Amino acid sequence: MTAVSHVLSDEWLVDYAAGTAPEPVAAFVAAHLALSAPARKAYACLEALGGNLLDAIEPAAMSPGALESVLARLDHPAPRPAGAPVADASMPAALRRYLPRGMGSLAWRKLARGLHAARLIRDDPSGYRLSLLRLDPGCAVPRHTHRGEELVMVLEGGYHDERGHYGPGDVEIADPSVEHQPIADPGPVCVGLILWQAPVRLTRFPGRLLNPFLR
Ligand code: ZN
Repeated sequence: MTAVSHVLSDEWLVDYAAGTAPEPVAAFVAAHLALSAPARKAYACLEALGGNLLDAIEPAAMSPGALESVLARLDHPAPRPAGAPVADASMPAALRRYLPRGMGSLAWRKLARGLHAARLIRDDPSGYRLSLLRLDPGCAVPRHTHRGEELVMVLEGGYHDERGHYGPGDVEIADPSVEHQPIADPGPVCVGLILWQAPVRLTRFPGRLLNPFLR
């Protein structure tokens, strides 16, 4: 098994920092930064690097200790609202605007046994779509490959597939070269955020019958 990074690469973070990421991508990256300490560290290093580049142009544009202050700023995750259901409570602030009345208020669609999805952002001009996934404990996503890039981040719970195990804040990027079957951990329901441009392609009968409905 090849080790796969669970943190978004610098390209995604740079686009987000520059404000050039389309809305679904920006929401995904912001949620990743809220939940993943390694991602926050990578982002802080990029910010410091950006400051140093500015230094080369404008002397003293960045004060000493700037990296520490950026790290300190990023190290305070949003507090859990009291009394909220667990999945709602672990929802990063960057996503709450898309579900102001909580997970239960979304239009969930059943895709397979134990697997439900609800759209958060549709019809963005970039072509990117953002949805939430709910996978019941021990249930599997039907085996599939991809027509384009698929980014999945765990918000709560966890899952594993042929490439590794993913917990809260971890991102898995899959593309047409990857065929996999994610299986949820026992324990709490696995809640994930999915960003994609093209629908998946199911590779095993009878899952293939569902393909026309996944567009
Ligand atoms: Zn996939």
